[in-house]
Amino acid sequence: SRQFTRPLNDLANQFNVILSAVAGAERVFHIMDEPRETEDEKDVEQVTSIEGKVQFRNVSFAYEDQPTLSDIDFDVNPGETVALVGPTGAGKTTIISLLSRFYNPDEGEIYVDGKSISSISRKSLRNHLGMVLQDSFLFEATIRENIRYGRLNATDKEVKEAAKKANANRFIKSLPEGYDTMLHSDGQRISHGQRQLLSIARAMLADPQLLILDEATSSIDTITEVKINEALSTLMEGRTSFVIAHRLNTIQNADQIIVLDEGNIVEKGTHETLLKQNGMYASFMYQQLSKA
Ligand code: ADP
Repeated sequence: SRQFTRPLNDLANQFNVILSAVAGAERVFHIMDEPRETEDEKDVEQVTSIEGKVQFRNVSFAYEDQPTLSDIDFDVNPGETVALVGPTGAGKTTIISLLSRFYNPDEGEIYVDGKSISSISRKSLRNHLGMVLQDSFLFEATIRENIRYGRLNATDKEVKEAAKKANANRFIKSLPEGYDTMLHSDGQRISHGQRQLLSIARAMLADPQLLILDEATSSIDTITEVKINEALSTLMEGRTSFVIAHRLNTIQNADQIIVLDEGNIVEKGTHETLLKQNGMYASFMYQQLSKA
């Protein structure tokens, strides 16, 4: 059977995103030599704050001449959580790429707070867009600096507060050198789950209004997973969140589920309404439940 999802990290790799994990800064999207990244249009607006309403209006997109999204249409209210589900290759990542303006739609329009995102400077849009990806990027620096990457002018106190909200403060304090612990790019010394907590702390510090999450698929011990789930809930609160979801629980609790297949929205709605429709979503759910 087809895999239902694929790591969003592919997107990061594809664009040579230097920092593949997290945070509301343009830095996160530092793109090297990406030929299709076009210049901002003239007279673009610098947005200083956003509420987080997102609308896709009849958006179609093709990579080269390969139609990838057709007539994508949905509305997300500020603070809502949207789960993007569908088989690998369905177009979930492409929706995120368009929202982040890695590409422009061929047809249709994407709006944030009612403004077409083509009228907003890329940099200022991305300053309000945070990502927590599966494979959190850490660099050779202290834990403190790794978290501070979310917002470079944050004070030590703010770094610690973000770590607390992300359920990371405990494990950091238990390390002999605490926040001064040096990390290595291969993430030695801390577990995969702890890396996730650090990337959540980073996003917490960045405080973006739009959030993109790619849920971890790799196995993490149960205790850390509980901490991660709790931290993610705190992070998502009040932010418009797009989740490339792998976990049943996340999907069930989403305000809206968008089911994609071959570039089309085949179904959208809540868990309950989609189960009643007895379509693709329902059959996927039954498949998952029979596996569990
Ligand atoms: P999903 O995230 O649901 O797995 P994607 O949005 O990554 O789906 O991919 C949708 C389709 O677009 C797939 O057929 C994929 O092979 C294709 N695709 C994705 N990225 C590119 C790219 N950079 N160039 C060409 N085709 C791409």
